[in-house]
Amino acid sequence: MRAEDTPLIRLEDYRPSDWLIDTVDLDISLAPQQTRVRALLGLRPNPAGQPGAPLILDGDELALSEIKLDGVTLDANAFAAGPQSLTVHAPPRRGFTLTIETVLDPSANTKLMGLYRSSKVYCTQCEADGFRRITYFLDRPDVMSVYTVRLEAAKAEAPVLLSNGNRVATGEVPGSDRHFAVWHDPHPKPAYLFALVGGALDHVREDYVTADGQQVELAVYVEPGKAGRAGWALDSLVRCMRWDERVFGRNYDLDVFNVVAVSDFNMGAMENKGLNIFNDKYVLADPQTATDGDYASIEAIIAHEYFHNWTGNRITCRDWFQLCLKEGLTVFRDQEFSSDERSRPVKRIADVRTLRATQFSEDAGPLAHPVRPRAYKEINNFYTPTVYEKGAEVIRMLKVLIGADAFKRGMDLYFERCDGTAATIEEFLDCFAETSGRDLSHFARWYEQAGTPTIVASGRYDARAKRYTLDLAQTTPPTPGQATKQPVVLPVTLGLVGRDGDLPLTTGSSAYAGDGLIVLDQPSLSVVFSDVAEAPIPSLLRGFSAPVRLELDLSDADLLRLFSADSDSFNRWQALQSVATRALVAAGRPGTDRAVLLAKAAEIAGALEHFLREQGLADPAFAAQVLRLPAPADIAREIGGDVDPDAIYGAHRNLSGAIGQALEATLIGLRDTLATKATYAPDAASAGRRALRNEALGLIAIAAPEAGARLVEQQFSSADNLTDRLAALAAMTLIPGEAREHLIGRFAEIYASEPLVLDKWLMAQALIAEPGTLDRVKRLMQHKGFSLGNPNRVRALIGGFAANLTQFNRADGAGYEFVADMVIALDRTNPQVASRLLGSFKSWKMLEPTRKDLAQASLAMVARTPGLSRDVADIAERALA
Ligand code: ZN
Repeated sequence: MRAEDTPLIRLEDYRPSDWLIDTVDLDISLAPQQTRVRALLGLRPNPAGQPGAPLILDGDELALSEIKLDGVTLDANAFAAGPQSLTVHAPPRRGFTLTIETVLDPSANTKLMGLYRSSKVYCTQCEADGFRRITYFLDRPDVMSVYTVRLEAAKAEAPVLLSNGNRVATGEVPGSDRHFAVWHDPHPKPAYLFALVGGALDHVREDYVTADGQQVELAVYVEPGKAGRAGWALDSLVRCMRWDERVFGRNYDLDVFNVVAVSDFNMGAMENKGLNIFNDKYVLADPQTATDGDYASIEAIIAHEYFHNWTGNRITCRDWFQLCLKEGLTVFRDQEFSSDERSRPVKRIADVRTLRATQFSEDAGPLAHPVRPRAYKEINNFYTPTVYEKGAEVIRMLKVLIGADAFKRGMDLYFERCDGTAATIEEFLDCFAETSGRDLSHFARWYEQAGTPTIVASGRYDARAKRYTLDLAQTTPPTPGQATKQPVVLPVTLGLVGRDGDLPLTTGSSAYAGDGLIVLDQPSLSVVFSDVAEAPIPSLLRGFSAPVRLELDLSDADLLRLFSADSDSFNRWQALQSVATRALVAAGRPGTDRAVLLAKAAEIAGALEHFLREQGLADPAFAAQVLRLPAPADIAREIGGDVDPDAIYGAHRNLSGAIGQALEATLIGLRDTLATKATYAPDAASAGRRALRNEALGLIAIAAPEAGARLVEQQFSSADNLTDRLAALAAMTLIPGEAREHLIGRFAEIYASEPLVLDKWLMAQALIAEPGTLDRVKRLMQHKGFSLGNPNRVRALIGGFAANLTQFNRADGAGYEFVADMVIALDRTNPQVASRLLGSFKSWKMLEPTRKDLAQASLAMVARTPGLSRDVADIAERALA
């Protein structure tokens, strides 16, 4: 497939389906190579469609073995069937049934879309368009049906048989070694939410009673022998269900809720109605095989998929252009849940780091697109940080702009009005326009316009008049297909910080909405604050109130004041990051003076020393975030053009090393103070202490390799949990030499039979910023634990390498060539994994000319490979455009 040959699907071409499918009765007989699927579809003309239209069902690599209309076998000339579609030329102009039989080979399905096997377990993935790989269907989210599913399989092979909804019957198949289960889901749903699972699985379970008194059986299914690692996921499920009842007033709506972990999965997890299927990485946890980070992401993703039950399933999307309707909103909901369960500021900092690293970089490159794209060739390429993370930021801004109360009422109205429908962004926004009494048409531009806006801010204090004037201006850079940009609505939360904290804000400006909120919805504006008793330091975008870049020319001295005195935790963290960023941006450009960087290091170290002494122990999780400097990739993005990754990495090492040296004694003391004899517990407070200790370890390893290696050795040997062991390994990867190789070997021995832990081991090595890494990665591909067929392994090793700023971007182009070769190899079996990997090239245009040419050559090499999937062809084409 060449990308040019693929049709572009456009939002403006949306039109309702000519046919509807009210009921789907599936009878699926599972067998490894020959699974028979019999579908009985209850069809009728859509009153909103074209009368008399032919019925054209979607397919993907399907083979039809039988077709009947109202129970009568169809004449060969009454239909046309191919792998990609099934057409009934002249269906009756009334309701009728269609019986379709297809035969599938789940064992041969390496794309992991549709029905496939993951280490012997039958499972499905249907979002976005995988259902058409199971049977011919109107595979679009606005066609919603009530499903009844009979599953049959050999008892020994698949003792567990699960599908959506409630189990209504089970039994033996007489005279055979087979059994069956029948599931019925009373809630009409689009095909992308269909799921089945069949296999030998263990489970843990718990009874749950919803706030409105419904009894629910919760269960988490895992590979045999792993039930001991399913408890955290189940516990997280119970907590997020309670939270959704309390915070959003949402109750669960079936008798069962099942979560199943499988080891081969293209994404993180999937919200199939009543039967969430997960990448096992986001389910399995015990202290020996999961880190604090894993515990936190399991909690977040369990919640995310559960929250989809309302935002995604009960209310689904009219078409895939509305993807952010469910994803942005559900990310917002899971972020709020995690904030309530843990520390809100720390969660916000972590989320903003991710946003900047993934979404800002996407927005700044050739793959930039609006939160609601207007056109696509391959929808699978639009499950992006822009749709998810920026989509969540848009909801967060909406809440700030209209206030928590109107937001809450708007959500309630949305749930009430759109329940059971396939909705649009417009319908969603209308609810909030109604409850807030505001015109949100300008705000809606956030869904249409790509690119990260920049706010340029400057302030002036008039001591005589006691007036402070704040000038704000916004611009958004051009993005592909959008040369000129309009101003967007920007909530700018602020404080004016004086000697003793925040000064009162008095202004008559119409842009001031009260409560420290300025709404910047024009190209520029000025707000004059009166009765300002002293020259303040502005603290803007508190809590990161808008997903923008901020240019505010504060001196380092002022930033360091904010770091110690701002009442907003996020901005305290941001202030120090800004000081470091500025120093690194300067040092990462050619011809800069090392002495200047070292002087800055001393200044930052001084501030950190004071902070750690006074407050390091009060909130270790926050302190860990403070201690972590912006990553080299953040600096590259900040520089934005003519980027030399080696220069940036060198500057980063120098700054970290100098700070680490200045703080060595403090950090060692801090590590001792934070050490504990208590056994591992995954709670946020304990995790925060470990995070701070391990952040300190990383700095020591850079600053004082010998002392660092000793500490690593001690920590690795005495740790009772993976978090500390892995942190030791990661610190050691910063110290070249025999001891490192030895530790790498020890780690592999300990975790030889733990694929998910070995993934971390693979990734830690793939991220080593040394020229030997490419060969190391190639060698690791031969490791018995590695397989190109498993997405987690690929993401860990090859994806890890592609995220290695200096080695992926090697000046000789060998990093690009390697990743491009891997993309081409993977594309033959799993296009989705291949195209995500190709997305690693998204920032190639900001590189210095030599690397830029080499990256472009590798991209072009991919683009001209014959037989590419639509997924990879689309990314290659857009990346090169
Ligand atoms: Zn989601």
